[in-house]
Amino acid sequence: MKLTILGTSAAVPTVKRGLTSQVLTVENRSYLIDCGEGTQLQMQRFGVARGKIRQIFISHLHGDHVFGLPGLLTSFALNGRKEPLDLFGPIGISRYIISILEATTAFLTYQLTIYEHETTDSKIIFRDHLLEVSTIPLVHRVPCAGFLFQENPKQRHIIPEKIVEFQIPFHKINGIKNGANFVAENGQVIDNQALTLEPSVSKSFAFVSDTSFSEAIIPQISGVNLLYHEATFLTEHEKEAILTGHSTAAQAAEIANRANVEKLVIGHFSARYSDLLPNLLEAQNVFNQTILGEDGLEILI
Ligand SMILES: [Zn+2]
Repeated sequence: MKLTILGTSAAVPTVKRGLTSQVLTVENRSYLIDCGEGTQLQMQRFGVARGKIRQIFISHLHGDHVFGLPGLLTSFALNGRKEPLDLFGPIGISRYIISILEATTAFLTYQLTIYEHETTDSKIIFRDHLLEVSTIPLVHRVPCAGFLFQENPKQRHIIPEKIVEFQIPFHKINGIKNGANFVAENGQVIDNQALTLEPSVSKSFAFVSDTSFSEAIIPQISGVNLLYHEATFLTEHEKEAILTGHSTAAQAAEIANRANVEKLVIGHFSARYSDLLPNLLEAQNVFNQTILGEDGLEILI
């Protein structure tokens, strides 16, 4: 899994920072998460292949997280896209997209399917051969949910020498990787444990979009390999964080610490901060394994 951060600014873009959008890449698939204004340009700047995106996940309907969508959807059409596209978001996203496409007489060359979800309970909203995505209910001024991406359990590794030793036919290999024993021609049963090694560890990424400090999310994101948590403000502006439904850097780090995650990356910084070192230090003071989100930053998970 690789995360590419496309934008780290809150509310308005700055010369150095675009609005919220991230791309999670697993094998040859990319999953787009939020799509603030300018996301298309950021994708081009940072070499993100748009064609690999089959699913888009939107946390909430604030403009700084969705104003990039109409442009991206219509650019796909201008490029003659044929692959279907799934769009997941809170209730209301369908009305937003359909009314803009209608008002601008846009024509799509591909199948766009929009799935709306409630943001009050956690639900699995998507599954494919690589991963599963569930919603993380958040506390914001409008319905908002983050997303937990969990890689599917991986197959066991077959030991190459055992294939030769027991003359295992090719068509049996997949079953053995999935845990089956092997029955040789003479009837001898060879236990799976003797043929395979433990599978690689499945990774997880939690995207915690705009939210007030919320302890309720801790059990769900417990132990993830990477947590992205918004950190719009410094503690000195905590009152504003409370008023606007956002978190401070220290609060993001406290969530990471209590959820025992491997790494934290913070973002969605208020445009008032030009130097983000204090934001990083504030978080690291609580949770040492914190990375500062930057536009174009790639993190291997
Ligand atoms: Zn918001």
